[in-house]
Amino acid sequence: MTELTGKRALVTGGSRGIGAGIALALADKGADVAITYEKSADRAADLVRQIEAKGRRAVAIQADSADPAAVKRSVGDAVAALGGLDILVNNAGIARYGNVADVSLEDIEAQLNVNVRGVVLATQAAIPHLGDGGRIITIGSCLAERVPTGGSTIYSMTKSALLAFTRGLSRELGPQAITVNLVQPGAVDTDMNPADGDHSDGLRALTALGRYGRTEEIGAVVAFLASPGASLMTGSVVTVDAGFNA
Ligand code: NDP
Repeated sequence: MTELTGKRALVTGGSRGIGAGIALALADKGADVAITYEKSADRAADLVRQIEAKGRRAVAIQADSADPAAVKRSVGDAVAALGGLDILVNNAGIARYGNVADVSLEDIEAQLNVNVRGVVLATQAAIPHLGDGGRIITIGSCLAERVPTGGSTIYSMTKSALLAFTRGLSRELGPQAITVNLVQPGAVDTDMNPADGDHSDGLRALTALGRYGRTEEIGAVVAFLASPGASLMTGSVVTVDAGFNA
């Protein structure tokens, strides 16, 4: 018996990277887990097998976070597969870099649609299913509060939107004893931001710890926020960035 035994979680964008780390951390604490993915069916199926090997139920749902109908359907599919929903983790996100002077309309819309609208719509679809003790945890970015270089302005703006979303929603759902929190990772070694990428040395140099994070280090924080021990935390912003914003 562990802290999240019997809890049912949905992690958006769980096929790879931070989302996969979160899904595994929730399963380690006993939760059954649904994940969504856009393209990586094989990676998603592999993660389902890893979670099932821990003795938990798992399901992978194809759903493009930029598609409002798909987002709504995916929450319904997760509820149907797991028999309800206790924890929503809004993790799916994309980054398209470029200076504001040059950024295309397509890149602006893609980031707004996945990083902001997708979060709002997944949350809206999940709320009716969450009961007392429900958890909504969103993955933002340390770049929401400090933008040390150009080129990530639009991405950072989409992550800033999640600060107000988290704080306002915590007020709306507090009376139902549902908590709403934001986790802001710093550089974490994933396909989006590889630790051996072109800009990785510069990012590493801006941290206090002098290193990238690992996906399981974000998963551990999310799993804590999902646990009964975090019952007094809501409207909180937890930055997990190796001291990047210190
Ligand atoms: P990755 O690119 O490594 O993985 C992204 C995940 O999201 C994949 O599972 C992918 O699915 C899914 N995804 C992407 N677009 C969509 C979409 N339109 N619909 C559904 N699923 C989608 O990213 P990270 O793991 O690095 O990032 C996860 C979150 O953490 C994002 O919100 C990101 O902004 C945030 N973050 C990341 C940081 C980092 O340094 N890595 C730092 C700060 C924040 P598929 O495999 O099918 O493509």
